[in-house]
Amino acid sequence: MKGKSIIADKTKKFVAIEKTKKELAEQVLTYYDENARTLPWRDSPNPYYVWVSEIMLQQTRVDTVIDYFRRFITAFPTISDLAAADEDVLLKQWEGLGYYSRVRNLQKAAKIVVDQWDGCLPQNKRDLLNLPGIGDYTAGAIASIAYGKDEVAVDGNFIRVATRLLAYNGNVWNAAGKRFVAEFWQRLLPTNQASKFNQGIMDIGATICLPNGEPHCDKCPVSSHCYSFEQGNPLEYPVKKAKKKRKVEKKTVLLLYWDNQVMVQKRPNKGLLAGLLEFPMINGEVSQEAVLAWLQERNYQVIRIQKGKKAKHLFTHIEWQMTSWEVEIDSFVLSKRIEDKIQWVDCGLIDEITMPTAFKVFRKRAACRQ
Ligand code: SF4
Repeated sequence: MKGKSIIADKTKKFVAIEKTKKELAEQVLTYYDENARTLPWRDSPNPYYVWVSEIMLQQTRVDTVIDYFRRFITAFPTISDLAAADEDVLLKQWEGLGYYSRVRNLQKAAKIVVDQWDGCLPQNKRDLLNLPGIGDYTAGAIASIAYGKDEVAVDGNFIRVATRLLAYNGNVWNAAGKRFVAEFWQRLLPTNQASKFNQGIMDIGATICLPNGEPHCDKCPVSSHCYSFEQGNPLEYPVKKAKKKRKVEKKTVLLLYWDNQVMVQKRPNKGLLAGLLEFPMINGEVSQEAVLAWLQERNYQVIRIQKGKKAKHLFTHIEWQMTSWEVEIDSFVLSKRIEDKIQWVDCGLIDEITMPTAFKVFRKRAACRQ
């Protein structure tokens, strides 16, 4: 390979790609034939499996997804089963994966597929994009992997490999940058081979051109085309995304025990952890006096109160710093407003309900009381 980076100058960029694309594509396809990762959703080219796996893989590592995927497909073997699933059962299957809107959108989309597409996922990207929870990457992945359409699927792996191949140091995290990367892969895509080609790049991105740490360029099938390898600086690409600092929110969690049961309540239907169960919480880190005042306002008669565990949970843009109080209560008179919202759960059965991972420490604590 000769010359410098083909960034910025569109003409040079396309000329360079055109010259090497056939060879590069062949190398990716051969690599995939010989080294494809064994993954349960690859066992059969079922569009439903590809869809579920791609949704699970958003924000979650492959190793974690494998078991979840197997359990999910066993519980809901077809799109119709998913559409008809009881929400509590569905959420339980997703528990621990987080970002519950993903599974809610999966079910919303499944219902549309059953109603409007005879239970079969549409094949083209435009129709896929109309389904809840399916964005550009997922639509491209389903259309190419499951249906063999000549579509690209640009995620972090594709961005990383593209910017390293090109030694491209422009911003690839905004819309224009993503278009640039998508165009790059579209130019390289071998006709009628998108399924294998895209999965080949996914595998190279996940196992060779690593996101964290030195890439294994010595094992890379496309190193002869790689400008950053030639320059000796692959780790400089892609240029990092400007990270937003997480907003810290302090919370006081209340474990309210009554007759060996613990209180949980439903979160609002909109916003963070929408509609899921939580332990009651007071905003801020509050004192024992403030907790007692809060309880008194709600007519709870307190028998015992003690400081509980602390925990921290990271969401994408928010960090919860949680302290807790464990309170044993005796009699109480619930207002109608509260009565409708809360549930008393037997401490021994607390693991049976679906609760966000944010409350893991407190749930474990409540389970110990059985
Ligand atoms: Fe990534 Fe190295 Fe392969 Fe270039 S040669 S694509 S940096 S693994």
